[in-house]
Amino acid sequence: MSEPAPALEARSVTKHFPVRQTGRVRFRRDSVVHAVDGVSLTVPSAGILAIVGESGCGKSTLARLLARVLAPTSGEVLMHGVPSTAGSRRAYARTVQMVLQDPFASLNPAHTVAYHVGRPLALYGTADNLSRDAAIEQLLDRVALSPAKEFAAKLPHELSGGQRQRVAIARALAARPKILIADEPVSMLDVSIRLGVLNLLAGLRDNERLAIAYVTHDIASARYLADEVAVMYAGTLVETGPAMSVTDSPSHPYTQLLLAAAPDPDRTEPPSLQGRGAPPSLVSPPGGCRFHPRCPFAMDVCAQQAPPAFETGPGHRSACWLHAPQDPRHIPTNNDIATHNATGQVGLVGEPEPGADPAGRSATQ
Ligand code: SF4
Repeated sequence: MSEPAPALEARSVTKHFPVRQTGRVRFRRDSVVHAVDGVSLTVPSAGILAIVGESGCGKSTLARLLARVLAPTSGEVLMHGVPSTAGSRRAYARTVQMVLQDPFASLNPAHTVAYHVGRPLALYGTADNLSRDAAIEQLLDRVALSPAKEFAAKLPHELSGGQRQRVAIARALAARPKILIADEPVSMLDVSIRLGVLNLLAGLRDNERLAIAYVTHDIASARYLADEVAVMYAGTLVETGPAMSVTDSPSHPYTQLLLAAAPDPDRTEPPSLQGRGAPPSLVSPPGGCRFHPRCPFAMDVCAQQAPPAFETGPGHRSACWLHAPQDPRHIPTNNDIATHNATGQVGLVGEPEPGADPAGRSATQ
């Protein structure tokens, strides 16, 4: 029997934004921001994919591409195996709902909870035979806002951040979606109430078989919540795989750095692995592996050729030359090819940095 199509699939999706000339820094007229470049991933049916990366890596742009809020520059998004553009935008929006990062800005302060949750019920006609009030209370019960009658009458300023985010989730559920895209849904909440919202999302997956794309900068919460993890860096995917495998045995140096920097109450020493510098400009990202200016294991080939995704375990892939089947120091660079063309000699690429172990996935600097 063939596998069911994933809930969402991105195929070589790219999104470039034209650069607006503001301030003193001048860019070429045709400059673009490479927000997302050639990303392919899947959101499993009735599963959670966490898209993880630091600010500016393109993960929120990718979420908007998956939600069809933005159109890709190239590549395509499929929902249940069908191109996302095959049906109307309204039908797509009903099936793929978004929960945004800021629960304070996403609710209109002048309207009650009942108004916010009731609008999609009216828009999509999803109240069935229930009265509007009964349907609203049922939705508020689903997100554990009880007594529902009391919450329905409240205004946003009478709610905590966690309660507002639950209202935003209830509003999304009112459309009867099959897929939720949650963009940093807990990052603006107090640490003490984040777990409740994460558990609510896990319950929607387990009990209602919703597929969820969970966008976050916090790899620890991705490990807690997700089935699959996709790590992004500077607009590209660097590592994908089962959540436990990626977080227990990260095979890409950037994922290793993210994990080393994650808060750990048991750690008494500072993080053992440290990268250099800051993320690159997405207007002119580095050639080759985009992480090479910061990577403690960078080799000559890394600056010249973008690594493909190598398999590092069951379902686990890493876009890093360290996992090439052959010794990465012997992969010809553009310089080697130029030398070969000029002299007929094949040159060896440079040695890794002193102290760096190109084969060591958990090497420390
Ligand atoms: Fe990129 Fe090379 Fe570092 Fe791998 S070793 S992450 S390919 S710079």
